Amino acid sequence: MTAFVFNEVNFDNHEQVVFASEAKSGLKAIIAVHNTNLGPAMGGCRMWNYASEAEAVRDVLRLSRGMTYKNAVAGLPIGGGKSVIIGNPKTDKTPALFEALGEALERLGGRYITAEDVGTSPADMANVASKTKYVAGLGDRGDPSPFTALGCFVGAQAAVKHHFKRDSFDGLTVALQGLGHVGYDYARRLHEAGAKLVVADIDQNSLKRAQEEFGATVVDVNAIYDVEADIYAPCALGATLNPDTMNRLKVKIVAGGANNQLATPEIGEVCRQKGILYAPDFVINAGGIIKVCYEYMNTPEDGMDAHVRRIGDTLAEVFARADSEGVPTSVIADRLAEERFKK
Ligand code: NAD
Repeated sequence: MTAFVFNEVNFDNHEQVVFASEAKSGLKAIIAVHNTNLGPAMGGCRMWNYASEAEAVRDVLRLSRGMTYKNAVAGLPIGGGKSVIIGNPKTDKTPALFEALGEALERLGGRYITAEDVGTSPADMANVASKTKYVAGLGDRGDPSPFTALGCFVGAQAAVKHHFKRDSFDGLTVALQGLGHVGYDYARRLHEAGAKLVVADIDQNSLKRAQEEFGATVVDVNAIYDVEADIYAPCALGATLNPDTMNRLKVKIVAGGANNQLATPEIGEVCRQKGILYAPDFVINAGGIIKVCYEYMNTPEDGMDAHVRRIGDTLAEVFARADSEGVPTSVIADRLAEERFKK
């Protein structure tokens, strides 16, 4: 058999990769603990109909590494990990499947703490929680997305300050993609701060609400990249910064909540060359994980708002260092994380 973990392109000296299974429930899961230097690894559990085991391995290695960087840069006392369940989230879910995952987490003794992610829900996490305490974000203390939106807003403020040398959004136009949990709340904050909004979504109800509540201009989903705007705020899909859109975007700043915005790492350099100030996704969208971590660790929540707002300070540091060192903001964000989590 070809070895496909240590050779995998996303393998990055992960501390531990565990294949967990249980016959009765049919569980086939992979748990990747990337790095625990700052604390137990935390990251969601994704359920996906992977075409192959190799694809699941690739995903869990990539996602768990990403969590180490995100958690470190957010200043949280946790490391990075992720789990994936191989299966169709629409047809293969049972309570027993998630209970079996809970038992697998229990065997790891707290080195990895899970949470919901793509394909899993708070109800699934409640089933995990019937077997282990190593599960966060059970949904009983509220949705983390308003905190993600707050982080995006303070991140955009830092970007405006850095690029336009001003504190206000008055008269600035934001092209916002995706009016979901994060995007809608972020749009509200931008509107209240005086920004003009141009929005795109596939959901007609959200568009109508944004028109009515924020006076937003609606454009077609494919036209959002061509809008004459100051800021592009991706809050729906990954990889929207790619060779095609880089030729179309007319903005000066990219500041949005979506995960994995760069189609390839090289796009960070393309942004720099084009004079587009990119707020690295895993820095600006960490508000949600901050909220989940506070909840899980029972940290008094009176400091949580200030913690999320520090995303603005972190980004200001990223932008300043990127300028002085002449490298992309995405590279500086990685370095900042590494300075924090590497022993
Ligand atoms: P969501 O599902 O609530 O919202 C996504 C929105 O995007 C929906 O309104 C959907 O209709 C819209 N959409 C889908 N396809 C589109 C397209 N082609 N063009 C325009 N709009 C489209 O999800 P969310 O929780 O708001 O998360 C949004 C993004 O932020 C995701 O990439 C997610 O991974 C990331 N993120 C979310 C959180 C959080 O706290 N929820 C935290 C970190 C990162």
